[in-house]
Amino acid sequence: MIFLIATQNKHKKTEFSRILAPLGIEIKTAGELGLQYPDVEETGTTFEENALIKARAGCMLAGVPTLADDSGLCVDALDGAPGLYSARWSGDGETNGDDEANNDKLLRLLADVPDEQRTAHYVAAVAAVFPDGREFVTRGECYGRIAHERHGNGGFGYDPLFLVSTAGTESNEQAATGEFTQTFGEVPPAVKDSQSHRSRGLQNMYDILKKEL
Ligand code: IMP
Repeated sequence: MIFLIATQNKHKKTEFSRILAPLGIEIKTAGELGLQYPDVEETGTTFEENALIKARAGCMLAGVPTLADDSGLCVDALDGAPGLYSARWSGDGETNGDDEANNDKLLRLLADVPDEQRTAHYVAAVAAVFPDGREFVTRGECYGRIAHERHGNGGFGYDPLFLVSTAGTESNEQAATGEFTQTFGEVPPAVKDSQSHRSRGLQNMYDILKKEL
């Protein structure tokens, strides 16, 4: 069964495909369906709302079941910022800032914050919208800590600053006291995929779609 993925990001397409393929789901981008994905304004006040907005727009456009996600980094010492604005944080508020500028801003704002208060978590909401009106949304989280400098070239976005515990971190308490040796920029892609907010959100979506299809 063909599902549209409402993103241009190839990395996300690969991850969605890998996790949902066992359900017989074939993920296509708008371009692969001969369509142009419209610029959608992310006006929601939660990750879940924004994921649904994108999935609804895709479903309306393509007329096939559509998946979308919305994600970001929430830093406790910054009262949850950059949160919904993670991509646009160092931009002008409308357009996306670049990863380097976003990471510089994060380091600057946390310059005087000690290790145990540098806790943070990634959030991903995953939405599925069907032409018959069914809508589902799931969430995944991944806890860690913000490093004092960049480590590694892997991943994207805030990954060079996002320290994770090899034992996995399921909560802020663990993130505050755990042993952190590597950032998501340093771990092999398979390790990030197994712990990431997106893979957890997707796994929860897998469980729903398994019952629905
Ligand atoms: P979006 O959900 O694709 O709009 O991503 C929002 C922003 O959150 C990205 O541009 C990154 O800055 C940040 N982000 C989301 N997921 C990750 C991740 O897995 N690693 C690093 N940064 C991420």
